[in-house]
Amino acid sequence: MSFKEVKMTKIKSGFVFHLHHDTLFEFCPDYNERVAYIKRYKPKEDQELRLKLFQLIPEEELPKLLVEARQAYSEAKRAYSEADQALSEARLAYYKAERAYCDAEQALSKTSQACQPEIQTLHSKLCPNCPWNGRTIFSITCKEAKQMDKPIEELIEALYKDLKESYPSLTLDWLRQEAESQLAGNPPRGGPSMFLNRYLKKLGKL
Ligand SMILES: [Zn+2]
Repeated sequence: MSFKEVKMTKIKSGFVFHLHHDTLFEFCPDYNERVAYIKRYKPKEDQELRLKLFQLIPEEELPKLLVEARQAYSEAKRAYSEADQALSEARLAYYKAERAYCDAEQALSKTSQACQPEIQTLHSKLCPNCPWNGRTIFSITCKEAKQMDKPIEELIEALYKDLKESYPSLTLDWLRQEAESQLAGNPPRGGPSMFLNRYLKKLGKL
């Protein structure tokens, strides 16, 4: 190693006297850098005294406990700095992943909505005689159905026959529930319910 390389790579650091004019003793991370700083920026008339007094304290002269404490401090500082760097990187990765997760969730929701017609068709194919009425798989009980007015029940059955081709997911129970709902004063919900509404009015039930 040449002298120049040694000079460039070896940083003189350690405890010093008179790094600053108003402090006796401090740790100096780079002795030569401070010398250069004094020569460049401090008033000319102060420089001679500053440079004369500014000195590295030989490590072997220092209290052993102080040297050890400084070493422990340096190691802890380095570990903290590394952990801080890892935290920043992890946080960045976390936000990127969070963003991707939100985007994917939105895309899934949109696609799921767009696939509704296909899902309905698939359901008709794979789940024959299904009691699903658009809201629940539980249908109104036989007792409830029997309680329903005969002309209304006939109307519902006729309507079901007429509409089942145009509305593959339509069920008799759904129409019954819809009739009950409208008879209870609720507005029609959806296409088949509009037809039902019209006929219930014709029957004089609404
Ligand atoms: Zn089903």
